[in-house]
Amino acid sequence: MAQVNTMQIVDTIVDLFATRGGDAYLGEPVSQQEHALQAAHLAELEGATDTLVVSALLHDIGHLLHGQPEHIADQGINGHHEDVGEVWLSEFAGPAVTEPLMLHVGAKRYLCAVEPEYSDGLSPASVKSLRLQGGPFSEEEILAFELYPHYRDALRLRRWDDQAKISDLTVPDLEHYRPVLKRVFGAV
Ligand code: FE
Repeated sequence: MAQVNTMQIVDTIVDLFATRGGDAYLGEPVSQQEHALQAAHLAELEGATDTLVVSALLHDIGHLLHGQPEHIADQGINGHHEDVGEVWLSEFAGPAVTEPLMLHVGAKRYLCAVEPEYSDGLSPASVKSLRLQGGPFSEEEILAFELYPHYRDALRLRRWDDQAKISDLTVPDLEHYRPVLKRVFGAV
């Protein structure tokens, strides 16, 4: 794991949101930054650990990093943003942060398989991307998913992700998360 200056990575993340956070989020009525802040706020409200709050805040950072327009799902392209985010963050953070983030797409496929009513609550954009992502998990894929040490956190993150799509919701801003980002990135 690379030794990086804690301030540097936190500033890099804040800069990424400043430059790309206004991008639309997958055809939903929120920007990338609004979505991230709502997901992190839900994590905090549920008393999640620091690492899981950061994972919720950064779960879609792959979208900000790879710079693909958000309508790529409409073009039948899966951007694999969860892998982009995981690879980038694994330089700076451990699996308690990166694994729920990496698994948040698989968590949707898992929940669609094990909880049939879950898919009823998905937004149209989320249903469309589900097809590109491979649809509900098979029995084998369910068992493989449950081998990840942090898969339960990924399921929690997924439910916050699904709810974090409310337009004009007032939640704490990005600066609110600077202390928790410093704690998490300073600890590795
Ligand atoms: Fe998301």
